[in-house]
Amino acid sequence: MTYLDYQATTPVAPEVASAMRPWIEEKFANPHSPSREGREAAAAIEVARKQVEQAIGLKGGSLAFTGSATEAINWAIKGTLEKAGPGRNRIVTVQTEHAAVLDTCEWLEGRGVEVTCLPVGSDGLVNIADVKEAVDESVALVAVMLVNNEIGVIQPVAGVAKLAHEAGALMLCDAVQALGRVEIPQGPDLVAVSSHKIHGPKGIGALWIRKGAEPAPLIHGGGQEQGLRSGTLSPALCVGFGAAAKLASERFEQDHAHVERLWTAALGALDSGWIVSGSTAQRYHGNLNIRRQSVDAARLISDLRDISFSLGSACASGSGRPSHVLRALGLSDREARSSIRLGFGRYTSEDELVAAIRRINEAADAQERFAA
Ligand code: PLP
Repeated sequence: MTYLDYQATTPVAPEVASAMRPWIEEKFANPHSPSREGREAAAAIEVARKQVEQAIGLKGGSLAFTGSATEAINWAIKGTLEKAGPGRNRIVTVQTEHAAVLDTCEWLEGRGVEVTCLPVGSDGLVNIADVKEAVDESVALVAVMLVNNEIGVIQPVAGVAKLAHEAGALMLCDAVQALGRVEIPQGPDLVAVSSHKIHGPKGIGALWIRKGAEPAPLIHGGGQEQGLRSGTLSPALCVGFGAAAKLASERFEQDHAHVERLWTAALGALDSGWIVSGSTAQRYHGNLNIRRQSVDAARLISDLRDISFSLGSACASGSGRPSHVLRALGLSDREARSSIRLGFGRYTSEDELVAAIRRINEAADAQERFAA
């Protein structure tokens, strides 16, 4: 099987599995217990916390572990609105955000919060002038992702954070697809990340929080994570996330160079009928969202069962809805339904990628012949 769905999830790095093993097989202490074993587990979690903080690379804040990035985003948005001062009852976000942001905003909208959802251009990028116009003293939070999960485009997060701060608002950046792949710019007050997108285990994410920007807790209970996020932490998951983050920091240049080689090889292998959706310049090059006239992407996926790739967003797949991101670019339903997403990275070889793309070309040709 050729795995080309790195935006949905990534293979667990061997180093991560080894780091986690003792915490699954032998060491089972509660990290919040004062016993010697408990303190050992707590110390391992603190090492992991530093490793994730270093991979994020921002100063002046701290990290709280969560069960997923979805939880981190829910917490950041709901908790910030809850704590916002009087008169600040508005969120500004973008139409191409992940469902974790958009659905949380919609939920709050049903409870009286005003949500402004900005459009993007045909390149998938938000216009900074639109952000400037939308953000004023009534805004509590501006939520803009760094790397888009469906099309890989990189939003101007530093500029957005500056505008948010000028209006006295906080800025949340969903950096799930960015961590370990592109540098996270200075500016955001809240940054959501996820372990399984960086070769770590599933079931753990984190929220980086600038000092003073702590959202009200979403989960109440034992007071773990400085009273901000209750629940017993899993040392195995934290250690795995930490090991993955450490590897991502150490291999940043190497992984980046590898992805650039893969991108060039992939573009070279694609037939001329394919069009790339979204900016190719302001983009993480491990994401190739392409479309071809008269291709039925769902059929392409079922024709090529030994190549794992995605239609639209992995999170929305199965819903039957055409991707909200592709529609925001101005693509028709038909164009969205003829779009596939190829995601590749650290463990993808150039040969397997090129071979898979040749087979995708052939399967698309066959569809075209059949339709003619
Ligand atoms: N944000 C983005 C951009 C994502 O791609 C994803 C997962 O696909 C999430 C948030 C949610 O992350 P998690 O799977 O940790 O809940």
